[in-house]
Amino acid sequence: MNSIIKLKNVSKFYYRKGMIATGFSRVNLEFNIGEFVAITGESGSGKSTLLNVISGLDTYEEGEMYINGEETSHYVEKDFEDYRRKYIGNIFQNFNLVNSYTVYQNIELVLLLNGSKKKEIKKKVIDLIKKVDLYKFRNTKVSKLSGGQKQRVAIARALAKDTPIIIADEPTGNLDSASASSIIKLLSEIAKDKLVIIVTHNYEQVSEYVTRKIKMHDGKIMEDKKIKDVSSEVVSGEANYKNIRFFSKLRLGIRNTFNIVPKFLLILIVFMFVIWAIMSEYASFKDLEYSETVTGYNYIFNDTSDTRLVIKKNDKTSFTEEDYDKINKLNNIKKLVKNDISIDTQVGVFHKDTWLSLSLKSMDTFDGIVDEGRVPENEYEAVIEGDSDSWYLSEMKEEILDQEFEYYSYTDNAIDKVKFKIVGIKYKDGLWNQIVYTSDAIINKVNRYIVEENSSMKVLFGGHYYNFQVVPSKKVPKGSVYITEDLNYMCKNGNCKKYKPSLRVEVNSQYFNDSLNLKVTNVYNKKTFTKMTGYKDYNALNGAIFINYEQFNSLFTKGNYQSSVYVEDVKTIDETVSELKALDLDVLKMTDTLVKEKATAIIQIFRTLVTIFLVVVLFFISYFVIKIILKSRNVYYTTIRMLGGNLTVSKELLLIELLNVANIAYVSFMLILYLNYKKVIQNEILDTMIYYLDCKDYIIMYVIIILMAALISFRFAKKLFKKSVMVTLSEEV
Ligand code: ADP
Ligand code: MG
Repeated sequence: MNSIIKLKNVSKFYYRKGMIATGFSRVNLEFNIGEFVAITGESGSGKSTLLNVISGLDTYEEGEMYINGEETSHYVEKDFEDYRRKYIGNIFQNFNLVNSYTVYQNIELVLLLNGSKKKEIKKKVIDLIKKVDLYKFRNTKVSKLSGGQKQRVAIARALAKDTPIIIADEPTGNLDSASASSIIKLLSEIAKDKLVIIVTHNYEQVSEYVTRKIKMHDGKIMEDKKIKDVSSEVVSGEANYKNIRFFSKLRLGIRNTFNIVPKFLLILIVFMFVIWAIMSEYASFKDLEYSETVTGYNYIFNDTSDTRLVIKKNDKTSFTEEDYDKINKLNNIKKLVKNDISIDTQVGVFHKDTWLSLSLKSMDTFDGIVDEGRVPENEYEAVIEGDSDSWYLSEMKEEILDQEFEYYSYTDNAIDKVKFKIVGIKYKDGLWNQIVYTSDAIINKVNRYIVEENSSMKVLFGGHYYNFQVVPSKKVPKGSVYITEDLNYMCKNGNCKKYKPSLRVEVNSQYFNDSLNLKVTNVYNKKTFTKMTGYKDYNALNGAIFINYEQFNSLFTKGNYQSSVYVEDVKTIDETVSELKALDLDVLKMTDTLVKEKATAIIQIFRTLVTIFLVVVLFFISYFVIKIILKSRNVYYTTIRMLGGNLTVSKELLLIELLNVANIAYVSFMLILYLNYKKVIQNEILDTMIYYLDCKDYIIMYVIIILMAALISFRFAKKLFKKSVMVTLSEEV
């Protein structure tokens, strides 16, 4: 019959700094099931080295080791892994338990790693705990146990796998004598149907149990003495094992995520830092990019705010109420300004000697808060907005607040005076001119004058065009026109009143043309001027032609050819532009009209590169910080490896652990963003993120941290497995 382990001339050398040290040399040994072997010898004599080679934890250089009669010189790491799982249970002087696990979890770990089902595990673990007399402590963390208790856990763990060989390297080295003798007793009981090899300094302690004594000196076997007969020829087979189950991996991964709280918090903080840093860097980059598109100047439009779109109809007709209804039904429309002419026109208003140049805006676009005075209460009232340092709002405040202002028309024949009272002041620093917020009624009246001022009028009389001044009068009936008697020479017999010739008034504006066909029904002279026209200043107005006031107004009240919409959410303004275009409108985005002092392309490329560089640097800093934190996990993963977990299992366990933290970090961060969104917390940087980042960016961020978790766990596990178990372990201890 084959011995379970046979060493034939086996030597183990260590290479250190170019020197060769001998672990042991030319060792010939055979071991059988049922033996309880004690190995003694002074320190440095090669006992541990021998055990490590037998355990498959270390390789050998010379000779041949047989396992159940099979040669092992051709074994690769994978074969030794397999061998350890089938044959070896290790017990160490310094226990090598998972300190953050409970007694139960430590023993359970072996069974999980070797593919047992959860149902089978429980009874087995409890039985083992009872066997080593630790039932009371089953849910206690191992770190809280005494040395003797820890070694009992290690024994229970070594037994859990039911391997034929138990190898114990000075298991009592760190124990008091009472604990030590109870551990030895326990091991001797196990030895009945296994091979137990124990290294000890204190042969006395084991002498009453052992069946064989081996003494080593200077890497050689000095003595190999049979003490007792092995009771029976027990044949113990290989331990059964399968690969770890998916749910066991998940459970262990989740357990590992949380069971060392400081480690969990540290990694969480690093992940959150990564998310925060990358997102804020990206958002501020977008912010910078965006603010560049909205700063600039423009000679045509006064209000160049990024939310404004100027619209005209493609068929060049005026807007109908139906058109406006359609526009108002679109999403994202905050306000529709039907007649937007006043927005872009600087108008003059006066009160006594105080003159103001300003632009008018609808009260609807005012945010409702004034710094001085009050908010308007009726259509006649208004709020002025301007820079607090401006001359108007610092020196002239008294002359402005609570005063009635009148619109000044260049046509200076305005019959309807447009007046409003400024009742409130709003300061806005950086504003280069004044804005007056008032009612749509006032604005519409002003608009009518602006249209008139921006139109040209021609008079066709007697076959020729003239630039006569055309003045509205309430005294002139519809269809009629009154002219000065100085023009009588143009009529038959020098008498226009009698002859009643035709006269045509034509209006041209940017948007429309119109005309009135009238009859000259009367002529005025200096004496009859005021009575006929209603105006006093003959000298100023002589030569003008007077037409009916309502007909005059109708020439300029043409409906709106140009309007503006303000969008609610500027982020989706391009969608709104497309929707408006689909309504057959010509749409102009204000931000497209700006003349920019543009950063050159090189600066922009440079800035993009800097941002990418920052993100990459951040990623790697965090990557290395997590790697350093994970160093403390070396022991854990080495233990896993000793218990039968391979590279893939370690990689996956670590991946689950890091993915958990990454996901928690991500969800926490989203929660913080949400709280900020709901104004429970307030942070400007978070505001910027919420504003600029969209769904796509959140997904990319998620992918980045998942990649980071994967990269770290793969590289870390790979590094861990590059070295042999013993090297990794010795580096830690
Ligand atoms: P023991 O366990 O009997 O005290 P060891 O097996 O630990 O002895 O050591 C045997 C010899 O091998 C000693 O001379 C020791 O210095 C050497 N040795 C042990 N481990 C290493 C190592 N990792 N690298 C180099 N030499 C080693
Ligand atoms: Mg030793």
